[in-house]
Amino acid sequence: MKTLILRCLLALPLLVLAGCNPAENSTATAGSKAPAGKLPEGVRPQAYRLDLLLDPRRDDFSGTVEIDIQLDKAAEQIWLHGKNLRVSEATAILAKREIPAEYKEVLDSGVAAVKFTEALPAGEFTLRLAYSAPFDRNLAGLFKVEEQGSAYALAKSESIQARKYLPGFDEPGLKATFDIGLTVPAGYAAIGNGPEIEREAAGEGLEKVTFATTRPMPTYLLSLAVGPFDIVERPAIPANEFRSEPIPLRGFARRGRGGDMNYILDITPRLVEIFERELRRPYPFEKLDIIAAPQWPSGATELSAAITYREQRILVGDNPAPGARLSLLGVHAHEIAHMWFGNLVTPPWWDDLWLKEGFATWGTPLALTLFEPEGGHDLNAATRAISAMQLDSLASTRAIREPISDNNNIRNAYDAITYSKSLGVIHMVDRYFGAERFRPALGRYIEAFAEGEADSPDFYQVIGEETKTPELTETFRSFVEQKGVPQLAFALDCDAGKTRLQIRQSRYKPLGSPIEDTGQKWSIPLCLRTDSGSEQCLMLTEAQRSLELASEQCPQWILPNAQGSGYYRWTLNEAQWQALLAQFAGFGPTEQLSIIDSAFAAFEAGGLPESTLLQLVRQSAAADKRQVVTAPLRHLQKYRRNYLGGENQPAFLQFAQDLYQPLLQQTAGSGDSEKQLLHSELLEFMALTAGDPAARKQLAGRAMAFTGFKQERNKEALDSDLYEAALTVAVQDSGDEFLQHLIGVRGELDDPLFESASANAIGRSDNAGQLERIHQLALSEQLGAREAFGLIANSLAEPALQQQHWQWLRQNFPQVVDKIPEQWRRHTPAFARAFCDADQLGEVQQLFAEQGKLAPGYQRSLAQTEEQIQLCMALRERGRGLGGAL
Ligand SMILES: [Zn+2]
Repeated sequence: MKTLILRCLLALPLLVLAGCNPAENSTATAGSKAPAGKLPEGVRPQAYRLDLLLDPRRDDFSGTVEIDIQLDKAAEQIWLHGKNLRVSEATAILAKREIPAEYKEVLDSGVAAVKFTEALPAGEFTLRLAYSAPFDRNLAGLFKVEEQGSAYALAKSESIQARKYLPGFDEPGLKATFDIGLTVPAGYAAIGNGPEIEREAAGEGLEKVTFATTRPMPTYLLSLAVGPFDIVERPAIPANEFRSEPIPLRGFARRGRGGDMNYILDITPRLVEIFERELRRPYPFEKLDIIAAPQWPSGATELSAAITYREQRILVGDNPAPGARLSLLGVHAHEIAHMWFGNLVTPPWWDDLWLKEGFATWGTPLALTLFEPEGGHDLNAATRAISAMQLDSLASTRAIREPISDNNNIRNAYDAITYSKSLGVIHMVDRYFGAERFRPALGRYIEAFAEGEADSPDFYQVIGEETKTPELTETFRSFVEQKGVPQLAFALDCDAGKTRLQIRQSRYKPLGSPIEDTGQKWSIPLCLRTDSGSEQCLMLTEAQRSLELASEQCPQWILPNAQGSGYYRWTLNEAQWQALLAQFAGFGPTEQLSIIDSAFAAFEAGGLPESTLLQLVRQSAAADKRQVVTAPLRHLQKYRRNYLGGENQPAFLQFAQDLYQPLLQQTAGSGDSEKQLLHSELLEFMALTAGDPAARKQLAGRAMAFTGFKQERNKEALDSDLYEAALTVAVQDSGDEFLQHLIGVRGELDDPLFESASANAIGRSDNAGQLERIHQLALSEQLGAREAFGLIANSLAEPALQQQHWQWLRQNFPQVVDKIPEQWRRHTPAFARAFCDADQLGEVQQLFAEQGKLAPGYQRSLAQTEEQIQLCMALRERGRGLGGAL
C-alpha cells in the first residue's frame, strides 16, 4: 500500500491521477475517520499570520489566516479545527504554485477537513483561508459584550474555542508563532500577545494595528481584545539579575473603570519578581498587560503577556474588602505562575492539564507567603487541598491524569481534582522530600522544556533523575494516576515495653458509596506525631505495616498527619479520638484542619459518634485561626439542610448562638482583615444557615441601606464580602417591593460583583408568589449569561421552592441552555446536586436522558450529581445528622 501511494504521488505531476484513484490510494489522513480527540500526528503548524477586521460595533468579523505547515507525509487531505466559520477560500501555497482546496466542518466539536484538489508532497506548505463568522454571544471564542453603551470584543479560547474564530490547529501541543494584524475602529485599544508595533489609518474610520511576532504558543493562549478600554500606563517592571530588559506594564479596563485597577497594578511588579527569583528564570514575554474583561466566563485566563480577568475579580478600588482582596491575590499569583507553568512549558494535551493548573495553584501560596508572610496563605492552601477530598470520595471522581479521547470531555478536566488535589499532592511531596531537593528539580524541568511541551512521563523522568529519588516519582504516579482519597486506619498496640502502631491503607468511602474494595494502594509519604514530641516519617507502600514507635511509653495521643501536609484521611478508635480532642488547642492550624476533615469523613462513613463530632466543632470555634473556626461550617450547612427536621431547628440555633455569638461580638468592627473576614463568614452562617433573627435583621437592614430602599443610599453600609448574604436575607424577608427595587438597582449601580451577588440572591427567594417574575428575569436580557446561571443554581440549592424551580427547569431546559455560558452547559446536571430523594433522582436522570445532548460533555457532571444524591439519601436513612446530639 505504502509503495503504491508513493509511486502515485511521484507520478502525479506527470500523469495527473491517471491510474491513481485517490479514493483507493488514500494517504495517512484521507478517508480516515474524523478525529474526535487529538489530531493525527504528522501535520504541524509552524507559524500563523492572522489578519482580521475586528469591529465590536458590528455583528461579524472577517479576515484571512496563513498557516505555515510541516507535512511529514504526502497528503491530499488534512484535519484541523474550525467551528461555525464561513470559509470562502482555501488554498495551499507551495513554492511554485497554488492548489485549491475545499474546507469542510465534519464534527460538531469543531473538527474540519481540508481537502486539496491534488495531493500535497511531504514538506512545508502554506495554507491560506479567508473566512468570516458572527461574534459569539455566549462568551465562547471571539465574543462580544455590551457594557454601559459600549461594545467590546474579546477572545476566550481555552480550552478549544479558538476554533470558533480561527481555522487552525487548536491543540495545546501544536505551538507556533503568531503574527497578528487587527483592523479596528480608530482610537480603540487592541490587545494582542505581542507588543503593538504599528498603527496606521485604514480608511472608513478604521485603523490597522500590527503586533510583534510571538514566541511559539498554543492557540488557547491567544489574546484578541478590542474596545474603548481605559489604558492605565505604569512604570516598566525594572530589569534584574535574571532579566536584562524592563517589562512594560499596563492595565486595561472598560471605559471609565481604569481607576479601579490601582490595587492589582501596584502589586504586580513584586509578584513577578518573586516568581523570577524562586524559579531563577526571567519572565518570558516582552510586556505584561492586565485586562479587566467584562463578562469574562472564567475567573481569569493566563493569555500570554495579556492576562485577562473577570473584571469583578480585580476592579476592587484602592481599599478592597478582605475577602475580595484575598481572592484578587490568589487569582493574580496563579495567573502569573502560568507564564512559566503552561505558557513557557505547555502540556501537549488536556490529560496533562495538572502540569499547568496544579503547579500554578501550588505556586500561589508559596509566592503569596513571600509577598506577605503573615497573610495565612498556607492555611488557605491547606483548606483548598482538603476541599478536593469531597469530590475525590466519589466513585465517579476523576484521576488527576486520565485519558481524554473526546473533545467534549476536555472541559471536565477543569475541576477540583486537577486544581486542588494536585495542590495537595505537590505540597505533600515538597514537604516530605524537602523543598531543597524538589524545587531545584522543578527549575530544571522548566529549563529542559522551555518553549516546548512536556507531559507527565517527561515530568516524572526529569524529576526522578534530578532528585535521584525514585520513591518521589512513585508517589507522584500513585496519586496522579489513581483516583480516590487514601484512608489510613491506625491501631495502637502497647505491651511489654514495646509500642507498635498498625497502619492499614484503603480507599476512603462514605456510607452508601458504590466504591468497591479492590485493594487499591498508594505510595504515601506519611508523617505522624505523638506526645513524645518528635515527628516520625515513613513511606507507606504496603497495604498494611506495623511501625515501632520511638517512644518507650505508650503515647497518650497520636496525630496521624503531622503538619497536616499529607493528602490522606485517617481513623482512630474512639479512645484515641478523645485523647486527640483533649489536646486540640495545642496542635498547629494545618493539623487542626486535618483533624476536622478526618473527623467529618469518619462520621460520614458511619464510624464516629455524633457527640464526638460536635465536641470537635466546639473545639474548633475556640481556635485562633479563621480557617479552623470556619472549617466545619460547610458540613453544618449541609446537615442543617438535609437532615435536621424543623423540630430540631431551635436546638441548632441555640448551638450556633452559643458557639459563634461571642466570636461575632469579639470581631465586630475589628481593623484586622482576618478578623473582619471571620466576622463576615460567621454572620452569613448565622443568618442563612442557623436562621438567627438578630443576624438576619442586621443584614437585611444593611442591604436596604446600601441599595437605598426607601431611604437615601449609603454606600458604606455593606462591603462586597457580604453582598450576597445580605441581599439574600433582604430578598427573603423584605417582600415584593424590595425585589422590584433590587432588580432596578442592579442596572443602575454598574458594580459587577453586586450584579452577580444580586442574581444569586434573587434565586434564593422563598416567596412562591415571585416565581414567575424570577423565571422571566432568568431568561431575559436584563441578566447576563453568567448571572442567569448563578440565579438558577441558587434557586435549586434552597429547599423552600426547589420543586417549583425544578419543574420550571425541566420545562424550559433548551431555553436555559441557550442562555448560559457555553463552557458551563456541561455543568447543568449539578443544578440538582442539593437533591436528596429517589423521586428527584429519577427526574434528573430522565431529563438528561431526553435532553442531555443539548449540554455536550454532561455525563461526568450527571454521574457525580447522581452519586451525591445517593450518598445524601444513604446518610439520611442511617439517621446521621446531629439532631440527637444537639
Ligand atoms: Zn490556571
